[in-house]
Amino acid sequence: MSTPHPNIVVMKFGGTSVEDATAIQRTLSIVKTRRDQGLQPVVVVSAMAKVTDTLLAAAAAASHNDSEKALSLSFDLRRRHLDAAEELVGRRAIGALAHELHQKFDALDDLLRGVSAVGELTPRTNDLVVSFGERLSSILVAHAFEHRGLSAAHVDARTCIVTDSHFGKAAPQEAIIEARLSEHVLPLVAAGAIPVLGGFIGANAEGITTTLGRGGSDYTAALVGGGLHAGAIEIWTDVNGIMTSDPRVVPEALRVRTISFEEAAELAYFGAKVLHPATILPAVQKNIPVWVLNSRNAANEGTRITAIAPHCKSPFKSIAAKKRLTIIDIVASRMLMSHGYLKSVFEIFDRYKCPIDMVSTSEVSISVTVDSNEQVPAICAELSKIADVKFEGRKALICLVGEDIRGQNGISGRVFSAVSHINVRMISQGASEINMSFMIEEDDVDEAIRSLHRAFFQSPDESVFDVAALAEVAH
Ligand code: ADP
Ligand code: ASP
Ligand code: MG
Repeated sequence: MSTPHPNIVVMKFGGTSVEDATAIQRTLSIVKTRRDQGLQPVVVVSAMAKVTDTLLAAAAAASHNDSEKALSLSFDLRRRHLDAAEELVGRRAIGALAHELHQKFDALDDLLRGVSAVGELTPRTNDLVVSFGERLSSILVAHAFEHRGLSAAHVDARTCIVTDSHFGKAAPQEAIIEARLSEHVLPLVAAGAIPVLGGFIGANAEGITTTLGRGGSDYTAALVGGGLHAGAIEIWTDVNGIMTSDPRVVPEALRVRTISFEEAAELAYFGAKVLHPATILPAVQKNIPVWVLNSRNAANEGTRITAIAPHCKSPFKSIAAKKRLTIIDIVASRMLMSHGYLKSVFEIFDRYKCPIDMVSTSEVSISVTVDSNEQVPAICAELSKIADVKFEGRKALICLVGEDIRGQNGISGRVFSAVSHINVRMISQGASEINMSFMIEEDDVDEAIRSLHRAFFQSPDESVFDVAALAEVAH
C-alpha cells in the first residue's frame, strides 16, 4: 500500500458552490481556511450549476440538426463563464484566462457544428460535449485562486481518472488512478500548490473522454481521496449536510450529525441526491472519513460519514425516494416456477445489464422494479417468451434508512399506519438490516415522505440530529 497522506483534504465543490463569481469567492475562502489550518487541499469542482443540463440540451439540439439552437446555448454559456471570469480577476488581468476560455468554447462550437452536420450523437460524442462543463469551471476556479494569492495548479482530470469505455457511466480503474495521481497530483501538493481538478470526467486507456454518470463529481472526489490516501474527503454543497429527508420536500428536515458509510450508501442509492451512490466505496476501502458540508454556511459542522454509526434512539436516520421506476409483473403461466425458471428470468435482466431494485415473489409470480429505461419493452418482450408479463411506469420506492431496523418491534406497523392513506404496491422482503422500502405511485412521493417524517422525527435523538437548528428556524 502506498503512503497515507493524512494532511491532504480532498474538497469537492458542487455546481451551486461554483455557480457564479460570488459562489467561487466563497469557495476560495473555504479552501483558504483549510490551508491556513495547515492542511493540504486538493480541490475537485463540478461544472457551474445547470451547465451540464445546458450542454446536454445543446448536444441534443445539434443531433436534431438544430445548430442554431445548439450554438445559441453555447453562446449563453460562453458569456456566463466570461462574466464570472471578469468579476473574479478583473478586466485588466483577464487576458490569459479569457483566451483559454474562448479557445475551449471555440472547440465546443466546432464540435456542435460537426454533430449538427451529421445529425448523429454517439454516447462518446455526448461525453465529449458535457465534459466542457467541468473543464471550464476548473480552469476558472484555478485562475481565481491564483488571482487571490492561493497558489493553484489546474490539473486536467482526464490525465488521472482512467476509466473503461462505458460512455455516460464509465467505471474507474482505481489502481491506474492511484498511480496517475502519484505522478500528476502529489508533486504539486509537495510543492505547496493546490491542485484543482474538474469532477465527473475521465478518459479511457486511449485517452478518449468519458464521464462517470450524473452527479459524478462526488465520485471523482472519493477516487482522488482514496487514490491519495487522504485524511478526509469533504463534499461541499448547498445544504447543511445529509438531512432526515430532502429539505426541498420537507422544509423542517434535520441535519444528521453522523451516519455510517453503509447507511449513506443506501440513501444515495435510493435517491438522496446529496451524494452520488458510488462515492462511498473508495472512501470505505481506505477508511477515510467523508464530510458533507454547506458552502453557503461554512460554520455549520455538517454530516460526518464514518465506518460505524453511533447509537441512535430513533429508528430511522433518513427517508429517501427513488423515482422513475417501472414495475414488471411476471406470471409463470407455462413453467409454473419450474427448476431453472428464476434463473432464466434473471438472465434476461442480466443480458440487458439492467439492475433490479426490488423483487417480490408469490407462488406463481415475480414482481421486480427497475429504473425506467428504453430497454424495458425489449426486456418484457423476451420475458413474455417464458411468462405472462405486464409492466407499468411512474412508480417510486420510498426507502427508510436506519441502523438495526429489524431489531425494532412493531416498526413496520408504525411505517404503514403513517402512510395508510397511500396505495402501497410492493414491500421489500427486508433483506437489508438498515433499509425498509416500499413502492408507491410517483405522484404520492412527497405526501408519503412528509407523513413519514412527521411520524418518525417528532422527538428525534439529539445526539444524532441537529435539533437546535430547527428551534432556530422556528424563531
Ligand atoms: P451539488 O451540486 O453540490 O452536488 P446536488 O444538487 O447534487 O448538489 O445535491 C444537493 C441536493 O440534494 C440538496 O439541495 C437537496 O435538495 C438534495 N437532497 C436530497 N436528499 C437529501 C438529503 N437526505 N439530505 C440533504 N440533501 C438532500
Ligand atoms: N456536472 C455533473 C452533473 O451535473 C456532475 C456533478 O455535478 O457532480 O451531473
Ligand atoms: Mg451532486
